Amino acid sequence: MKPEDYIGLMKPNWCPGCGNFSILAAAKMAFSELNLDNSEIAAISGIGCASKFPSWIKVNSFDTLHGRPFPVAAGAKIANTNLKVFVFCGDGDCYGEGMNHFISTCRRNHDFVAIVHNNERYALTTGQTSPTTDIGTKTKTSLYGVTDPPVNPVALALSANASFVARGFAGDINHLKWLVTEAFKHRGFSLIDVLQPCVTFNTVNTLEWYKQRIYKLEESGHNSSDRMAAIGKSFEWSDKIPIGIFYRDNRASYESYLDQIKDVPLVKQDISKIKIDKLMEEFM
Ligand code: SF4
Repeated sequence: MKPEDYIGLMKPNWCPGCGNFSILAAAKMAFSELNLDNSEIAAISGIGCASKFPSWIKVNSFDTLHGRPFPVAAGAKIANTNLKVFVFCGDGDCYGEGMNHFISTCRRNHDFVAIVHNNERYALTTGQTSPTTDIGTKTKTSLYGVTDPPVNPVALALSANASFVARGFAGDINHLKWLVTEAFKHRGFSLIDVLQPCVTFNTVNTLEWYKQRIYKLEESGHNSSDRMAAIGKSFEWSDKIPIGIFYRDNRASYESYLDQIKDVPLVKQDISKIKIDKLMEEFM
């Protein structure tokens, strides 16, 4: 498969220069490198600029409610363990409305990849403060500057026992493609928080702003099997900002505990002899 084999029927309507274009390119390159067939990929999203993502690629897709891509992705994976499940969502969607689902997914270690387009704004609704907006930032919902400290998604995932935690940058497509392939090979939940410039509503954290600060963990001697070291790195956010794999381990995924789907995915099982009338009556 080539990256162009995943191009959807509709063209993206993101603003020209939006970081989402690079994330889309990196995902298609990763799918191609992993030689994934369109029919075996499921792209799940919520609401937001990032969540339009599944409309622009030719794979199975499901646009869910605001903040709900994680439980839907978990359900899709449990129903069909053959599916290669990816969540594409924004920081507002996943760390705001979906925060509880995000933490539960880290703890449970559901086997799918989440790529969070983190632009530090609710951009689809025209640039309001999101959970990751830096303190002091002025937006139309924080006219005198944000007073709450931002959520740190990497630290949060690490403290919730996530088994694969990474950060990418939309300005480095090849590095992001590599992160997506590594996350895909991981069994269990993989988070890639992607620093995504929003050219329309975030004039602070621009492509250039990030380029001046970013360095790669792989080139700094970081030990990605050391959770405490990873937590230390996750709090670096000043003139130096790390990207790469903060942490990964091999703990068992949630799905691997389910004997019922060990050999045959749920969707392939013969349920014709199972009587569910009584159960249905309970819900009627
Ligand atoms: Fe991208 Fe921001 Fe435009 Fe949304 S508003 S499409 S995030 S540049």
